[in-house]
Amino acid sequence: MEDRERVRRIARLLREREAEWSRREWVQYTTGFDFGVNQAESEYIAVLKDRENYRAVERLLGQRLSPRWRRRLEILRRHFKPYQLTPRLHRLDERIRKKTLELSQVLNGHRCRLEGRTVSATEIDRIWRISPDRGLRRQAFLARAQVNRPLLQAGFLDLIEMRREFAALYGAEDFVAYRLERDEISPRIFIGWEQQAAPLRENYQRLLESLGQRFLGGDKPMPWDLPYMETQLAPQLQTPVDISSLYKSLHDLFNRLGYRLDQYNITYDIFPRRHKSEWGYNFTIVPGGDSRILANVEGRYYELGVLLHETGHALHSFRLDPRDYLMNLGVSGIIAEGLANLFGDLLLHPAVYGQFFVGRRADADRNFARLRRFQQARTFTAISSILFDQELYRRDLRGGQEVDRLYWEFQGRILGEPPYAREAPWGFRIHHTTHPVYLHNYFLGDLTNRMLRKVFIKRHRVQDVMEKPRKFGRFIEEEVIAPSGRWPFEEWFERISGRPFSLEWLRDG
Ligand SMILES: [Zn+2]
Repeated sequence: MEDRERVRRIARLLREREAEWSRREWVQYTTGFDFGVNQAESEYIAVLKDRENYRAVERLLGQRLSPRWRRRLEILRRHFKPYQLTPRLHRLDERIRKKTLELSQVLNGHRCRLEGRTVSATEIDRIWRISPDRGLRRQAFLARAQVNRPLLQAGFLDLIEMRREFAALYGAEDFVAYRLERDEISPRIFIGWEQQAAPLRENYQRLLESLGQRFLGGDKPMPWDLPYMETQLAPQLQTPVDISSLYKSLHDLFNRLGYRLDQYNITYDIFPRRHKSEWGYNFTIVPGGDSRILANVEGRYYELGVLLHETGHALHSFRLDPRDYLMNLGVSGIIAEGLANLFGDLLLHPAVYGQFFVGRRADADRNFARLRRFQQARTFTAISSILFDQELYRRDLRGGQEVDRLYWEFQGRILGEPPYAREAPWGFRIHHTTHPVYLHNYFLGDLTNRMLRKVFIKRHRVQDVMEKPRKFGRFIEEEVIAPSGRWPFEEWFERISGRPFSLEWLRDG
């Protein structure tokens, strides 16, 4: 078979098999039934394990190519590489995937207990956000650490160990370096974060202190007070809303930006039920053809944030060119999460809340502005869990207590805070299990958003992106979506911002 034709066939096979894999994952996450997720994943990976396929890609890369074709093939080679290895690595990889699925089932099926009864994540969330009882909020917050033990018993540390072993056999410096290489991010990006966090921490602590004065009778705010204080800052977040109005506002917002949601085949599964994952996801089944959103909504204004975020992912998948599967494989997770957060953040924008708080608009404006300031000051705190997520693969961890200690260590180094409980709440974060070395994508995505908004505001001489919503929609389309696979993240960032990547975009708004 001619090489080019073979590569086209590879792209088609990957697309078809990925669709089947995503369909089964969707069923597993929404119902708890496993109709062969691992099997479908193995069939996808079989394409990448095929030696002849890989050789065709390598041969083509040795020829004269247009820049776009070279990029497509380089992306494809990066996908092949982890599977073109020794039989020993293959076996190890299979064990890792099996263990990951097993542990994700432990997490999806786990329900916390509070005051002697089982509670859902949404209930915990509600206590955390609205209960004036500080002791109860603390208990609800710490209940999230309950999943640590079943997760450890099911082999969480074995999973970490297998990943470390894999990276060593692969020849990478460590598992973090291995993952970052796969995602086309240089480890350079993370250098100096601890130092750069220091001034951000001072500003944040001042803000926290004043909130403690205002809402906690002068007490020092603790992690379980944060969502509560947010609700106090903007009680509008908790306003009951009917679900159909949430959909309508999604529709209106995207329409103003120039995107007609009803033209896209997006399925929403938004009600909580047993055996369903308690998080929010967008599953792209067929790029440009079928996207499905999982969320757990009970009818409060703030829940619109998740729907905006996941709809942002869905929109992204619909606006990429579905025929260019290979280029789309190169879309950076940072750009994907950044774009989703760009829409998610509009929850606090008058263009969205304006329709919900018509009669009390001045209150809403004031409160949401305060909340935005608080959230912006708080963004850097994510650095602590990002570094924890990475350090899991660099330390020798021989038990749950050592994982706890690692968690507290980074909390101390980044936030300057001592431990606040015996067990640290880390296991509930599914990323450590299913998406290792991934948390930085959200944080870097937020930072990217701030850059994008500032660039747009300067370029179009406006105060706010929603002054020219159509133009902003087009800006996103042309500057973010269309080129999102073409360059590695840092290169793309520098092209559009005109400066090398740094944390400086976190300062002042
Ligand atoms: Zn997301």
